[in-house]
Amino acid sequence: MSVTQQQVLDSLARVMSPRGVALTSANVLSAITVTDGKVFFSINVDAAEARAWEGVRAQAEQAVRAIPGVSVAMIALTAERKAGGAAAAAAPARPAGGVQPAAAHRHPHPPGAASPMARQAEIPGVSAVIAVASGKGGVGKSTTALNLALGLRDLGLRVGLLDADIYGPSVPRLTGISDKPQLNDDKKMIPIQRFGLSIMSIGFLVEEETAMIWRGPMVMSAITQMLRDVAWGTLDVLVVDMPPGTGDAQLTLAQNVPLKGAIIISTPQDLSLIDARRGLAMFKKVNVPVLGIVENMSYFQCPHCGTRSDIFGHGGARHEAERLGVPFLGEIPLHMAIRTTSDSGHPVVESEPDGPHAAIYRAIGAKVREQLKGAIAAA
Ligand code: ADP
Repeated sequence: MSVTQQQVLDSLARVMSPRGVALTSANVLSAITVTDGKVFFSINVDAAEARAWEGVRAQAEQAVRAIPGVSVAMIALTAERKAGGAAAAAAPARPAGGVQPAAAHRHPHPPGAASPMARQAEIPGVSAVIAVASGKGGVGKSTTALNLALGLRDLGLRVGLLDADIYGPSVPRLTGISDKPQLNDDKKMIPIQRFGLSIMSIGFLVEEETAMIWRGPMVMSAITQMLRDVAWGTLDVLVVDMPPGTGDAQLTLAQNVPLKGAIIISTPQDLSLIDARRGLAMFKKVNVPVLGIVENMSYFQCPHCGTRSDIFGHGGARHEAERLGVPFLGEIPLHMAIRTTSDSGHPVVESEPDGPHAAIYRAIGAKVREQLKGAIAAA
């Protein structure tokens, strides 16, 4: 039996709002999307009222989840700031007039508060969450995130991968996963196990076209849910494949995910290095340590004769890292095998474990593990 929008509205009519009327009469609901038992919408209120509404968001979520046939309920609380208002001035790191994720309301912080960890609770059972980011799309961020996760696995760590690239989730394609996550008894989503990794992607939940409607307010809420409402179990490292770019959504994400560090992927071209610099600046702004830069498509390696050509003037990322005082983690060649394995759902570290590329990803993994060893050992 499929869930209807009317059923959702009926259940929300029983949730009381702080305005003394039912949620459905408070004039705060966005359009409600119901696809295949998955329900998405947002509650839009003024920033000044946001804290009073957090409980309502949780009640609404509970009410929707109780409808028979609902498998996923993602409800964002968004709080618009009035342009130039006091709230906007109080928190310069946040995008003015931007999105306030539900999690942020639970952890209000004074202006200019230091570490994101101070505001954002860690995920139980997960020792270190790290972001793999890039200043722009198409530099091989997702390919690197997955192969790095596999490299860390090869070092004996328990590793998860969260595809938070909500605008274009590529992990289903890169891993060949087409299953839908099941719910456990606590109604948490069980990550899909593949290659010894625990994997979650927004692409497992919605079709690629549907993912487009997540722009704006729902992005952070969806990612918060994928972090918190997934039964990750015990992990040494959770690798988060970030959405590309350094806009407001990425900044909010960097600020609200309890990150132990970030890795920036860049290609050697100048333009991409400029973008990488923006990425570095973004993490600096929100006090997330940059674990290092990886130069992807660093040099061309001929699949036939193995000859190396530095067609992009290789080495730019290494120099940039030195100049900026952040670690340089390694160079990955532009190689046909990386592309074909990646795009066919058999990442190179998994399909050619004894090959040269797997060794490179493992070496990068070892440098990352070295930097995280305090966090991993503490757990
Ligand atoms: P992003 O996540 O930055 O958008 P992807 O990981 O999806 O980038 O990679 C974009 C394309 O480049 C994919 O077709 C992928 O297979 C290919 N690619 C990524 N890294 C390499 C590499 N080192 N060598 C060859 N192809 C690569």
